[in-house]
Amino acid sequence: MAQLIDGKQISTAIKEELKEKVSSLKEAGREVCLAVIQVGDDKASSVYVNNKKKACEYIGIRSLSYHLPEETKEEELLSLIGKLNEDASVNGILVQLPVPAHIDEDRVIQAIAPMKDVDGFHPQSVGALSIGQPGFVSCTPAGVVALLKRSGVAIEGKECVVIGRSNIVGKPMALLLLRENGTVTVCHSKTADLKEVTKRADILVVAIGRPQMIDASYVKKGAVVIDVGIHRDENNKLCGDVDFASVEPVASMITPVPGGVGPMTIAMLMNNVVEAEGMQRV
Ligand code: NAD
Repeated sequence: MAQLIDGKQISTAIKEELKEKVSSLKEAGREVCLAVIQVGDDKASSVYVNNKKKACEYIGIRSLSYHLPEETKEEELLSLIGKLNEDASVNGILVQLPVPAHIDEDRVIQAIAPMKDVDGFHPQSVGALSIGQPGFVSCTPAGVVALLKRSGVAIEGKECVVIGRSNIVGKPMALLLLRENGTVTVCHSKTADLKEVTKRADILVVAIGRPQMIDASYVKKGAVVIDVGIHRDENNKLCGDVDFASVEPVASMITPVPGGVGPMTIAMLMNNVVEAEGMQRV
């Protein structure tokens, strides 16, 4: 039986540590502040934004909320981002994606000052990660590394396989594992023989966006399996990209869905905001 990697417990521990840090910053007269911008009324986005605000409140981070109408012009959004970039009391800026189709997402991401890019999506943040310089890292892959480290999984020298090459999960995930001295292979939808590669993995990170696709036939005995996927199955129950019932008996450690990678994303966002405050003071 595999050991469960408990993302709920680990993310709670991180939030408690951040709460203490923010409280001692407050005593020193320093306030941490995140600006969250939502354009339009996408339901899922509203839930995500609300969860981020709640996490800020819990930790003691001031959150500024900007809920703009669907028909907001790109220039208006860019002008708001410009103002927040200039505002020294704002440490982090987050634009909830997706933005409405008439707004160019890349232009929005690039408008955020890299020092305040707490989502880690700005090309400068991605470039810094790829050449080993300091910068913000996309929250979900950063959460995966935190899960591994806090569960006592050594990454150095391990065969790490990432399935998925998206800009927000797969690619930064591969770069982070490389930074931790793993031997990293990235698979994607054009990989010729997926199983042949995934069966080599000591650490297998699955971020493909296909419900329960990865069963035991893809997994080496004793591998650590991290499931980034989130879906609802035919019974409306949450599930991941990994077929948990099939893989769990083969793996040495595994993340459940829910309660694995999911709760780590917000915890790492909060961590980035607190780090931003520190970086902006020096
Ligand atoms: P995406 O759709 O942008 O990318 C999916 C990747 O998987 C692509 O690179 C594609 O090449 C690869 N892929 C697709 N089918 C494949 C196949 N049959 N074989 C091999 N590779 C294949 O998705 P994403 O944004 O990277 O998200 C991946 C999953 O993670 C989704 O389920 C998403 O909901 C979830 N997610 C979770 C969090 C979280 O906080 N836990 C955050 C972001 C995404």
